[in-house]
Amino acid sequence: MREIWIAGLAVPAAAIVVAALVYALGGPVAGFAVLALLLLAIVIWHLTQVVKLVHWADGELDAPVPEGHGAWRIPFTRIYRRVRARAAVHRDLAHTIARFQSAAEAVPDGMVVLDAANRIRWANRRAQRQLGIAEDGDIGTPLANLLREPEFIRYLEGGDYTQSVVVPSARESGVTLSMLLVPFGVDEKLIICRDITELEAVARMRRDFIANVSHELKTPLTVISGFVETMQDMDLDAHQRERYLALMEQQAQSMRRLVADLLTLSALESEQSPAADTTFAVEPLLRAVYADALALSAGDHAITLDAGPAATLVGARDEIASAFSNLVTNAIRYTPKGGRIALAWSIAEDGSGMFSVRDTGIGIAPEHIPRLTERFYRVDRSRSRATGGTGLGLAIVKHVLLRHQATLEVASVPGSGSTFSVRLPARRVHRLPAAEGARETAVPARG
Ligand code: ADP
Repeated sequence: MREIWIAGLAVPAAAIVVAALVYALGGPVAGFAVLALLLLAIVIWHLTQVVKLVHWADGELDAPVPEGHGAWRIPFTRIYRRVRARAAVHRDLAHTIARFQSAAEAVPDGMVVLDAANRIRWANRRAQRQLGIAEDGDIGTPLANLLREPEFIRYLEGGDYTQSVVVPSARESGVTLSMLLVPFGVDEKLIICRDITELEAVARMRRDFIANVSHELKTPLTVISGFVETMQDMDLDAHQRERYLALMEQQAQSMRRLVADLLTLSALESEQSPAADTTFAVEPLLRAVYADALALSAGDHAITLDAGPAATLVGARDEIASAFSNLVTNAIRYTPKGGRIALAWSIAEDGSGMFSVRDTGIGIAPEHIPRLTERFYRVDRSRSRATGGTGLGLAIVKHVLLRHQATLEVASVPGSGSTFSVRLPARRVHRLPAAEGARETAVPARG
């Protein structure tokens, strides 16, 4: 502070000394005139410093602080330091806000901040997409104007935010959102929107699955208990008893098949990694599948096997055998007596292996093909049941193939027949040097 006094008084003091000298040399008039001029010059100089300061204060926020001289050097330097410290605090604050915003953007859920009147104050990009909030246009708009779902409005206005509310997205059809409102600050609210479409789909699948299994088990159980009641209430002759027992056994068998398929499916689904890979020859597997097909068809169909090029496969033999068998069993079950069924193995140019089952059966309309591998999906429910189908065969095939990175291709013409082909990736197929002898096998149909 002393510096300011010294710097501020030095110049007027010098002016007085100069004026005194002029006074001594040139008389009082000259002396006072010089003093007046010098003091006027000093006042003008001080005023220019004030103008400089006012200009700076009126200018851009980030304009540099002007340099001060004399008595003004210290105040200007102090202002400069203060501005610099403020700018650093500002930068830190902006950095913190930017970090919070990028954290809010990284959250996988949509987030919207509402004011006391439920107007949108801020929304992260995900919420903007989910709810159709325009970043520039909709800030300040009541959220209820954008999300008109009555259930959500009731929730927003109801005041009980202990639970979330589930609403369909107004923006994307088929998308379901779970909205949770969290009050914070003074009358402000944070809305967290989570896309639960997949969770909903899984929950729905689980519900459908339980309903399907219960239904599938209920049908044979009802039949069995019906027979038991009849046998308890009525005097049956030996022949009738035999017949009823045989029918009951049939129902018990279909329940056993269903439970076995359910266990297979659940084992396949719960396994994280594929069963330990083994290397096995394709041909014996094809011949075993073929022999089972002959036994199941019992001469009703003309079944051929083209064992194709000799090869070994890498994978879980039992799983692959069960997938191939399921396709062959279906071909037999959905091909009327006298039909033809051709099993074939081939290796494509790219080294991938293909097992195909072609039948001349009832065929499948194109709209059903994409859904065939869903659990319990059947084109014709009664036909499937009548032929002993559980509705799980192709679901099992799908899981086995998934675990072997293989794919299922289905081509079908209703009334003419279907071809189900399994394509195994080249890395699981190793061609062997050609073996001698005919590889084609055929058994003519009886019927
Ligand atoms: P299912 O036990 O009912 O046969 P799958 O999962 O094995 O169950 O097959 C699903 C449905 O696909 C069957 O119900 C049937 O309608 C149809 N399907 C499967 N294979 C054939 C085929 N070779 N020819 C005609 N329809 C078939």
